Amino acid sequence: MANLYYRYNPQTCQYERIYPSGKKFIRRAGIYLLLALISALPITYWYLQKFSSLEEQYLQQQNQVLSENWNELETEIDEAYSRLGHFAQKDDNYYRMLLDLQPLSASIREAGVGGIDRKLDGINDFPKVRDGYERLEKLKHQIQVEMQSFEELSLKADIQLSKRATRPAILPLHNKDMIRLHTTFGNRFHPLLRIWRDHRGLDMTAPKGAPVFATGDGVVSRADYSETYGLVIYINHGYGYETRYAHLLKYELKLGQEVKRGQLVGYVGTTGQSDAYHLHYEVLHNGTQVNPIYFFQRDLDHKEYQKLVEHPRYQAPVE
Ligand SMILES: [Zn+2]
Repeated sequence: MANLYYRYNPQTCQYERIYPSGKKFIRRAGIYLLLALISALPITYWYLQKFSSLEEQYLQQQNQVLSENWNELETEIDEAYSRLGHFAQKDDNYYRMLLDLQPLSASIREAGVGGIDRKLDGINDFPKVRDGYERLEKLKHQIQVEMQSFEELSLKADIQLSKRATRPAILPLHNKDMIRLHTTFGNRFHPLLRIWRDHRGLDMTAPKGAPVFATGDGVVSRADYSETYGLVIYINHGYGYETRYAHLLKYELKLGQEVKRGQLVGYVGTTGQSDAYHLHYEVLHNGTQVNPIYFFQRDLDHKEYQKLVEHPRYQAPVE
């Protein structure tokens, strides 16, 4: 406690307080201030050690959020791995076996997984993030392998199915007669009706009277004239398949007649809603039109077939 000084005043008969001079006051205040600062130092140090700045606290919170999100991402990658694993197993032990294909070796499934993209080199200081990216790269590679395997499976399945005589599997025209195959399955502008319409078949431009052939064994389920199709033949192939041959000049089959793949159906015409000699060909499965380009395997070699199937128009039919 600070010392207080008093002096007796005989005139007032009282003790009166004596205040220090200005200099003394400043010196004393300085000493107090110094003492206060010295004692505050350890407290400040302790405080700084224990509590971080606001910015640090914000960053710590952000870090926490990022870390939680990252953990969720890792869990999802794990799940994707596990699902793909089941898929790969089913592929090897069921689908590939079913179609007499060898299971894919582990070396194929694992091959080609290199380092991660160079632009991500900056993440080297964060092993957890780097590890996550590497696992994603591996996942991408395995998906790619699986997709290739399914391509192979679908090709093999197509070939095996096309061996079944009833399946539509050839071109309905001689290749030499086909002036142009219009890649027009899907929505397109109808040249006569002048409207956009879903076109559910393939148009094949050919000379007048070019022969049209049945694309698989079956029974004629319709042989007449319709306003839209003109002279038309439907063939029921069983197993849910049907083919239609429209705008014919003349047909050579009767309702209920049994036909063989490659048998003459009729001749190319332009009857019904048509503005040029062409064959409108449809393939239906369970009553719904499907794209006929998937049913030419017997006539086209693998390269030709792939070229047709991968035609950009089929990726996004616009016409
Ligand atoms: Zn058409």
